[in-house]
Amino acid sequence: MSNATQLIHSIPTDPLTGAVSVPIYQTSTFVQEAPGVNRGYDYARSGNPTRSALEELVARLENGSTGLAFASGLAAIDAVIKLLKTGDEIIAVDDIYGGAFRLFNNVYEQFGITVRYVDTTRPELVAAAITPKTKIIWLESPTNPTLKISDIQAIAKIAKQHNCLLCVDNTFATPVFQQPLDLGADIVVHSATKYLGGHSDLIAGIVVAKDSETGARLKYFQNACGNILGPFDSWLVIRGIETLHLRVRQHARSAQQVAEFLQTHPAVDQVFYPGLSTHPNHTVARKQSRGFGGIVSFTLKNDTEAAAIAFVTHTRLFKLAESLGGIKSLVSHPANMTHKSIPAEKRRSAGVKDSLIRLSIGLEETEDLVADLSDTFQRITQTNTIQQVTV
Ligand SMILES: *Cc1c(COP(=O)(O)O)cnc(C)c1O
Repeated sequence: MSNATQLIHSIPTDPLTGAVSVPIYQTSTFVQEAPGVNRGYDYARSGNPTRSALEELVARLENGSTGLAFASGLAAIDAVIKLLKTGDEIIAVDDIYGGAFRLFNNVYEQFGITVRYVDTTRPELVAAAITPKTKIIWLESPTNPTLKISDIQAIAKIAKQHNCLLCVDNTFATPVFQQPLDLGADIVVHSATKYLGGHSDLIAGIVVAKDSETGARLKYFQNACGNILGPFDSWLVIRGIETLHLRVRQHARSAQQVAEFLQTHPAVDQVFYPGLSTHPNHTVARKQSRGFGGIVSFTLKNDTEAAAIAFVTHTRLFKLAESLGGIKSLVSHPANMTHKSIPAEKRRSAGVKDSLIRLSIGLEETEDLVADLSDTFQRITQTNTIQQVTV
């Protein structure tokens, strides 16, 4: 049976009424027959049946023992870092999500946890950076916004040799295309705000642990710290996941065509998409994932902020906004948006050039998206004032 079929039939129907959709248990507490005698739930921070349905679903999707749902992707990451203690070190991918960078550097460094950023596309650099204090290796693959790919299997082997945990932020790939736990990782996190939710209508985070011991520690933190996902948002994520396979395959199909179009356009300098054979990590991407995702980034021959701003303000279907993974296509200018807080030199050396533009490919017809991009290039060269900066 295919993964999509299994997924759809693993979402339980309600045993009480036969409802096909998972009920939303909007309650804070549960009546007990005697003190401590209950039907599996006593207080909704510790457990809620709607959230449990989501948690079991994501555990199955990622082939882990334990799934946990949090109030945001960052709350999920925060729970994983709580596995560490003062003096421990993190080795993290250098092109890391900005919010994770802020959490590691501005929050956890206060508690004596240090972070080293490494180009994880080269596993030998990860091995060289490990010290006896390293307790966790943190990957994103593909990364944001330059779509770098790291070899999860090779890095999992290094992590095992040094007794470290490997955690992979699987937000961009989704479990439809990549299952890091099967490649040797110990923990997977998601910003469910993106593809799992899929409709740009909620903020949520997921953690899935491979072994139940780590899972139990994370579950303990979830209850002790209280960053849980509420029942209605849990239901929305379940509803999103019901169409995940369909959506993600279409996002990727269009992304491939958009990337190929951009590659041939005379105003474009570099295109970043792991599905292109010219992508430096294309072979690794093919080896470890079944698809290349719905995000495409590119730079302009005219590598200026002004040219990029002209572009992102002249698209029609692509809406200028933060975030990604929803049904509507979005465009963003990382240098001025997600990566604004990173000093210009540091940002540029991480590959985020001034003209870098990121596209989140939505579910519109592929040809309409290509036409919108093609028209945008024409529109900005026709505008006199812009002409000076784009030619
Ligand atoms: C958005 C995002 C996050 C943070 O998730 P929130 O739901 O916004 O807290 C973490 N990792 C990646 C890769 C993301 O894109």
